[in-house]
Amino acid sequence: MLVPNRNYSSNAYRYGYQGSEKDDDVKGEGKSYTTHFRQLDPRIGRWLSRDPKATSFETPYSSMGNNPIIFNDILGDTLNIGKNTLSKTDIKSLVRKKNRKYLNFSSNGRVTINLTKLPKGTSKNSLLGSDEGLNLINDLVSSPKKTLYEASDIALLRTFNGTPIGKEIWRDRNGVINSSDYGLDSNGALTTRPMTGYDGQLIIGTKTSWEELDKKGTSSIKKSRASIVFHELAENYERTHKNNNYLGGFSSGSDVFSFYKKGAHESASNREKLWFGVSNTPGAVSKIINPKPSRAIRFNNYNLIKKYKNNATINQAINNFFAFKFY
Ligand SMILES: [Zn+2]
Repeated sequence: MLVPNRNYSSNAYRYGYQGSEKDDDVKGEGKSYTTHFRQLDPRIGRWLSRDPKATSFETPYSSMGNNPIIFNDILGDTLNIGKNTLSKTDIKSLVRKKNRKYLNFSSNGRVTINLTKLPKGTSKNSLLGSDEGLNLINDLVSSPKKTLYEASDIALLRTFNGTPIGKEIWRDRNGVINSSDYGLDSNGALTTRPMTGYDGQLIIGTKTSWEELDKKGTSSIKKSRASIVFHELAENYERTHKNNNYLGGFSSGSDVFSFYKKGAHESASNREKLWFGVSNTPGAVSKIINPKPSRAIRFNNYNLIKKYKNNATINQAINNFFAFKFY
């Protein structure tokens, strides 16, 4: 809350906290904001309507994971990559070179797409239709769900019950952790949940590489890292934004009990076929090369996970995570 008579804000400028539009006529100056999806009262850090995807352990009115410094949510939606240069490279690699100028990366890791200045004769739909990578990122940034993407060798997540956990990704035999509030993980087990403040989270090992079978099905060929990032992000979108399970069919879980005609994996593979960098066999991996990091890196990871587990102030550990460099 602002101290009365000790603040100044120009009436010519309509935007305040996180660039959201202020509604000063609702409760007074700087006390209410309208975002694309919801209204926010910054004095109590609460939304005035329920989170479209509420979690069981947190009030659906909670905003920014109760930490407005770390978690920004400008439109009430976001794709975030943390402070991570390899994640940025990965996101760019999904988009055709000539279209990368439409991508924006803010210093707090938020990814946005600006399609206000298109060449003459090009519509938004025709541009997105010609670049499935840009189209996928556009889907992620324009949905009310929040996704975190990171290239990292360590994952900070929550268990299915909401307890924070840390995990070294090189111990995961896929080199990929695809977590969401719905669906099953890549091993067919109940998914881990994303970090506080997110609906979906994807972590891809920094040094892991993948191979696929060639067209004859006899020898393995290297799969591009970008094709893995595209497939897993598309799969996370299906799971997080469409509540679609990993595999199709009948599924029962503690909060999922539905019939899905098509699984998230299958939808992601179909979408991958539309992508310019399409792989030989979309979605398929025949061999995973997931090297164990050096002793020094493992020691750092171990300390970080230990600190994360023991720290009562989880946001502090998340802060350390984003400040840490694993690449
Ligand atoms: Zn898949």
